[in-house]
Amino acid sequence: MSELRQDRLTHDWVIVSPERALRPHDTSNEAKPCPFCPGNERPAPSALEEITDLNGRWLVRAVPNKFPLLATPPDSGALASSMPTGRMLAGGGWHEVIIESPAHGATLGSMSVVQARRVLDMYARRYRALASRAPFVRQVVLFRNQGARAGTSLVHPHAQIVASPVVSPETRHRVAVEIAYFDEHGCCAQCQTLEDELVAQERIVLESPFFVTYAPYASSNPYQLRIAPLRHCPSFLEVREDELDDLADHLTRVLAAFLAQLDKPDYNLVVATPPLDIIHRAASHWYVEILPRLQTPAGFELGSRIVVNLKPPEEAAAQLRKAVASN
Ligand SMILES: [Zn+2]
Ligand SMILES: [Zn+2]
Repeated sequence: MSELRQDRLTHDWVIVSPERALRPHDTSNEAKPCPFCPGNERPAPSALEEITDLNGRWLVRAVPNKFPLLATPPDSGALASSMPTGRMLAGGGWHEVIIESPAHGATLGSMSVVQARRVLDMYARRYRALASRAPFVRQVVLFRNQGARAGTSLVHPHAQIVASPVVSPETRHRVAVEIAYFDEHGCCAQCQTLEDELVAQERIVLESPFFVTYAPYASSNPYQLRIAPLRHCPSFLEVREDELDDLADHLTRVLAAFLAQLDKPDYNLVVATPPLDIIHRAASHWYVEILPRLQTPAGFELGSRIVVNLKPPEEAAAQLRKAVASN
């Protein structure tokens, strides 16, 4: 069983999970039985939820992760116990996989808008299902890893969703900055950023009725992108159906340009949204972050947390903007 341990010096949480080392790895294109392909569902746990075609064949399916980061439902009693060397929380949480297509070689950037819309529908459904387990669950993290450098263990297109009884340091920091900005300026940092970026136009990749994709001014990675709703909306929990329609079109167009321009880079996609019990409705504003894995952090980055980005975001945005417009 995995354990959540808190470092006494940094307050960072770490999941110690020996079971995860046992999971299958197939990042090659070799013809091995893929556990996510139709017909191979049997050894995998049965589906939590499926979107099917008229013949009952699944098009998107959510399953429990067979090698979960967090597994045991949290105890309603004492959340954490003090150990001689830090705090420890046994197990606690849920880890699911969303299989995004029956097609082994599909990607979010190459699938149809209709299929991407089904994928987003499942993202929203599973996010809400896991969020409904609050207060045991305090944070739900939705992400996808594309490629070996982004940490994926299987080629077949899939996203993952982890419901955790602790709030991650990254999320805690982001929320603290959002609230500090609101206290100082009286408005949402993301709303203000979108307004400023739309005036400047320098880092905009795509505008659609409900979303804007831009390269952040201080991008930490070459070609880092944020896709943010134009409407001030604190949490992904509150995304509307018409926004998901627009996001499916927007996301596939941006990712298609991204994959073509960068020769199918490895990347991580994360839904940045506040924890369930710390939603500052005026200060938080959810978004999708795309982080390409084109650089490897070296000692300076790891030691200082100051990143060296070799690609100015203005150049990255101009290149991707042109590619999106020409498709
Ligand atoms: Zn497959
Ligand atoms: Zn806002």
